[in-house]
Amino acid sequence: MTCPDCGSKTVLVPVPDAVTDAVGAPTVRMCTRCLSMDPTEEPVDTPPNLSQISEAFPEEHDAAVPMAVLVGLLDSLALHRAAITTLYEQVERAGVDPLLVLDRLARDATIETEIDLAGRRRHLEQLI
Ligand SMILES: [Zn+2]
Repeated sequence: MTCPDCGSKTVLVPVPDAVTDAVGAPTVRMCTRCLSMDPTEEPVDTPPNLSQISEAFPEEHDAAVPMAVLVGLLDSLALHRAAITTLYEQVERAGVDPLLVLDRLARDATIETEIDLAGRRRHLEQLI
């Protein structure tokens, strides 16, 4: 399936149990180009390869999945503060610095997002 916003390829990402209520679904469909995220009930059969979105995502599945959902929620940081904090901790626990991933995403030329990644990164740093 392609992204309704920009027509690019999308990937299915399983939402970590701790934040399915906040996200509103067990799975999200994420665009590999504009990073828009849509909740879906579709089950995820195989772990997603998030390097399809960006090489900025960690290879480690335990870090990449919560990181992807975190990025998708950045658009509404104030609204999803609790879920974002939970995901941030999951990424850190998997041995990855979420702020560093955001830095890399912000510099990735293959991503064209309306999310102000650099600005959101600053807000996130203050929030956590
Ligand atoms: Zn898109």
